[in-house]
Amino acid sequence: MNESFTDEALRANIYEGKRISPDQGLRLFEWDIIELGQAADYRRKIAFPEENVGFIIDRIINYSNICEAKCAFCAYHAHAGRVDPYELSMDEICQKTEELIQGRGTQVMLQGGLHPDHTLDTYLTMVKTLRERFPDIYLHSFSPAELTHIACKSDLSLDEVVQSLKDAGLNSVPGASDLLVDRIRNAVSPKKCTREQWCEVMQTLFRHNMTSTATMTYGMGETLRERIAHLEVIREVQDSTGILKAFIPWSFSPARTRLEHISPATGMDYLRMVAIARIFLDNITFIQAGWLTEGTKLAQVALTMGANDMGGVLTEEVVVKATGIETQITMTGMTDLIRDAGKTPVQRDSQYREIRRFT
Ligand code: SF4
Repeated sequence: MNESFTDEALRANIYEGKRISPDQGLRLFEWDIIELGQAADYRRKIAFPEENVGFIIDRIINYSNICEAKCAFCAYHAHAGRVDPYELSMDEICQKTEELIQGRGTQVMLQGGLHPDHTLDTYLTMVKTLRERFPDIYLHSFSPAELTHIACKSDLSLDEVVQSLKDAGLNSVPGASDLLVDRIRNAVSPKKCTREQWCEVMQTLFRHNMTSTATMTYGMGETLRERIAHLEVIREVQDSTGILKAFIPWSFSPARTRLEHISPATGMDYLRMVAIARIFLDNITFIQAGWLTEGTKLAQVALTMGANDMGGVLTEEVVVKATGIETQITMTGMTDLIRDAGKTPVQRDSQYREIRRFT
């Protein structure tokens, strides 16, 4: 359906703080980048008037790369042949958590593939062990795909899985969403959770009073309308649950994957995506600048075009690294980057509350 509207009306909607339609979102891809960036920054100020930019000290612990989903866009799973198959022992997971705490880190993201032999008990053991040994660490872990996978493997409902993990000490679940468009999911990740299942996981987390985030991996052969369709799913889920603490768009890194023939999205494309997400997602406060995939310099620019968070100073990341991208930044590097963008760096916790301000 193509709705009729003028750019004047669209501008008025944006600057009056009103919700824009999917057709209007699509139209923004044609706007001059400077005007789009300014409009997004205006909407960022409505959602978050402060000039602080937060970051968290966290560590992604990829406990195993053995995965039966074998997504075409993933260089990390063992079958891709880029990283040897492995499984971390519980001692190794604890050692990595200990190192994070020594570095003043506050959050662990346990993430793995869809392991053929893992059941709910495997997950409960990880969560319970970390909770007992590190009672103060925040566990923002697993993914909607892992939750639907273990529910299926263990013959349990999602409610039972989420409640058990919560009781064991899990705090929240990152909402790794890829692209919530059936055509693309069927083509690149047919064995991963479907769009409907992703939404079901979010509704389940909501029922259990747990929060999440939403991501977007674009540049996998989708149309611009399909990108807006993804944002529509996120906006609807947030309308009905309010559990999404942040939205994190990043471009697909094709190197070393089965989709290597696809040209990577450009920097301008990334800035447009951040800005459009900020304007379209009027119900999400934090939009993260994806320095991990886009590089620190582009992430800095994104802070002036709608983004207001830098995500994690990751002490370890291996999934994006498998595509050949360097994925390290120090805390000083992060605070310098934020300051240089004219913002005040703030170390935050997992609920986006300030821990320490760098003036
Ligand atoms: S993206 Fe996740 S689910 Fe897909 S193959 Fe990689 S590890 Fe497995």
